[in-house]
Amino acid sequence: MSTNYIFKGGNLMSEERYRRNTYPRKRRVKKSSFSIFGAGVFVLLSTVCIAIAVMIILDLSFPTGGIFFEGEAVPVFADDSDSPTLVSTALQTDNHEEESSNSSIHPPDNFGFYLLPFYILENLEAYINFANDRPDLSVEEVVWKVNVGIHVPLYSLIITNYDENPLLVSPVFRLPYGFSPPNLVPINNDNDALLATPEAVAAFRELRSASIRAGFPNGISATSGYRTAARQRANWERNGSRDGEVARPYHSEHQTGRAIDLWGPGGLMDQSGPSPIGTWVAENAHEFGFIMRYLAETTHITGYIHEPWHITYVGLEISMYMFENNILSLEEFVGRNPGAKLP
Ligand SMILES: [Zn+2]
Repeated sequence: MSTNYIFKGGNLMSEERYRRNTYPRKRRVKKSSFSIFGAGVFVLLSTVCIAIAVMIILDLSFPTGGIFFEGEAVPVFADDSDSPTLVSTALQTDNHEEESSNSSIHPPDNFGFYLLPFYILENLEAYINFANDRPDLSVEEVVWKVNVGIHVPLYSLIITNYDENPLLVSPVFRLPYGFSPPNLVPINNDNDALLATPEAVAAFRELRSASIRAGFPNGISATSGYRTAARQRANWERNGSRDGEVARPYHSEHQTGRAIDLWGPGGLMDQSGPSPIGTWVAENAHEFGFIMRYLAETTHITGYIHEPWHITYVGLEISMYMFENNILSLEEFVGRNPGAKLP
């Protein structure tokens, strides 16, 4: 059971809504019928005005059911409200009689999702279901996890990321078929087989120079960069088409040209345990626009084991923000910053 979602311009939307927005129905209004159309609008507006006047005179109010909520915004975590409690009737509440006293601090969804800046209206039902399933999670965690589709088992929800320069590529976020980065350059001047985006290469060379200055005579070196979808498919099939170690084609960050695997003492960097240079990279990569993409603490979020060799270029702004706010995964960053883009 997989649902199709589209990710474009930093927004997540269902495929149906995407089509509606992308291919709006054309309106054809014949000139000859324009006066009839105008008369219709006039009659309609007059009716609405009269109705409003009647409501004002009789002191009636418009129905206000639904999920939008008018009122004073209050801090989400002013009390214990970060532990959501089960409110199964949240959306059916339509009793205006009881709104008298405290309605302004008890939103209809009762979890306070809508107070978070990264709340996405279309996800409300998923927030409520997930919060009910996982009462151990904070409201913030519920919202950002749903925003990046990790509230369900990995690969059961696939979201196609149509952003031109996609930030998040993962088991959930897939590149569109046929995707390839517009611009790739060699990571090392003497090796045309090892490519990455120009931004990633520039940052990598700075990181390498810094590693040499830090006392590692040879500095860091790359062993893998950009991979085509065909190459990724071959890797995946060679690995037995299992999820978890090798990414599926169109789900690999290497296909964006922003991921680089490092070579370390005796194999992939720190694959067989921490080394001084591997530790230095993990502690300093963020200062050059890279993140350590797959940490031991984030395996349940990213779907990958700890990969101390895999660094991903996200730009200095994002890498520093994640470092300063102790955000350990790109999933969490995007979940909390739905419109975020690469520089
Ligand atoms: Zn890698």
